[in-house]
Amino acid sequence: MRTIIEPFRIKSVEPLRMTTRDERERLLREAGFNPFLLPSDAVIIDLLTDSGTSAMSAEQWAAMMRGDEAYAGSRSWYRFEAAVKDIFGFDIVMPVHQGRAAERILFSTLCKPGDVVPNNTHFDTTRANVEATGATALDLVIAEGRDPTSRHPFKGNLDVDRLRAVLAEHRGRVPVCMLTLTNNSGGGQPVSMANARAVSALCREFGVPFYIDACRYAENAWFIKMREEGYSDKRPIDIARELFALADGCTMSAKKDGLANIGGFLATRDERLATRERDLLILTEGFTTYGGLAGRDLDAIATGLYEALDEDYLRYRIRSVVWLGERLLEAGVPIMEPPGGHAVYLDARRFLSHVAPRDLPGQSLVVELYREAGIRAVEIGTVMFGRPDPATGEEGVAPLDLVRLAIPRRVYTQSHVEYVVEAVTNVWHRRDAVRGMRFTYQAPTLRHFTARFASL
Ligand SMILES: *Cc1c(COP(=O)(O)O)cnc(C)c1O
Repeated sequence: MRTIIEPFRIKSVEPLRMTTRDERERLLREAGFNPFLLPSDAVIIDLLTDSGTSAMSAEQWAAMMRGDEAYAGSRSWYRFEAAVKDIFGFDIVMPVHQGRAAERILFSTLCKPGDVVPNNTHFDTTRANVEATGATALDLVIAEGRDPTSRHPFKGNLDVDRLRAVLAEHRGRVPVCMLTLTNNSGGGQPVSMANARAVSALCREFGVPFYIDACRYAENAWFIKMREEGYSDKRPIDIARELFALADGCTMSAKKDGLANIGGFLATRDERLATRERDLLILTEGFTTYGGLAGRDLDAIATGLYEALDEDYLRYRIRSVVWLGERLLEAGVPIMEPPGGHAVYLDARRFLSHVAPRDLPGQSLVVELYREAGIRAVEIGTVMFGRPDPATGEEGVAPLDLVRLAIPRRVYTQSHVEYVVEAVTNVWHRRDAVRGMRFTYQAPTLRHFTARFASL
């Protein structure tokens, strides 16, 4: 069958409120043209993020009822720990309230000023947590990963030659090297097993710990199964185990492929490091068997980590995202090719080719999607990663200006996806009338969350 159907049916529904164009116009003004500042009640299709927005299954809700809220050593913790050990294979697991807490604990334990941390592409919170220690975050994705039209099957791969040069040049000053699976900021593109193996071997050669940012490990495993030779017969869980066996540890946001609404973990094989990390965990997250989570959250994650590896789910998930990308391509809309695992990224620089990069074409397109159809997306480009020049105040421009349409897991149906295709296509047809934007307010770090804008 060619028709894509959700491999689940709906037991509980959440109404969507339909807004009018006039209402959206007013709300945009009140929100300073920043969709992060919109009330979700006024959003028809919310593609701001796939993080923490998953619909839980009947099994997960049942697991939540089994949640044991004991402060220490709860049954929920043991189920959580067992699931993480079974899938990821690390002996030491520390629960945290979300992925960035794992990052903060890891980097503040390992990094010091002057250090260098390579990654295929740092996610925004990852970069911010590296930089908060005084270390430098280096993005070493392969050249194809920076080219929005390249159809390379593993555009998330890290450039191994550049990594070797970095490790040689900064010998003794690289406390950890990371691979982000899939490469979120680079377009949700996967990393191949061969690349993970090569990075792991190189790290071993230079004595550098190798960590995986595991947020979308299941989607990445599916891409390996579909695209990498020798993996088509393997189960996603076995591919995941093979991947993590290459690493010394991982950070995880269970808000992605944990199919949970909150949570995460930090895992390692290094007991000495873990001793220092646990002190920080207790100081800021909570005791080592709950890490800022309720027992019921631990149980929802323990169940979700397995459901994310289900083949029927993964096949539908990736096909639905690819379907969205292909319909947009057919309409002539420029997107990051091929479509990623959790999102389709519109190439705002080509979409609004008459808007100069410093005039924030990504933000303009985000605003236009909301105005058109109540769709909320997020800019991943100059607003998120650019910095004003300290001397001149001139906007620094990011390498790409993308607009991410992130698809929450198990939340929207194919007809919702069709609605998105129609809305984006409508904006594409009237693109020449869309103007650029400028900042009217920006915070010094992670500015995209709170910035305000005006139309040019
Ligand atoms: C979401 C995400 C994080 C951070 O996780 P939070 O749960 O949002 O704190 C880190 N890395 C990647 C690749 C992510 O997608």
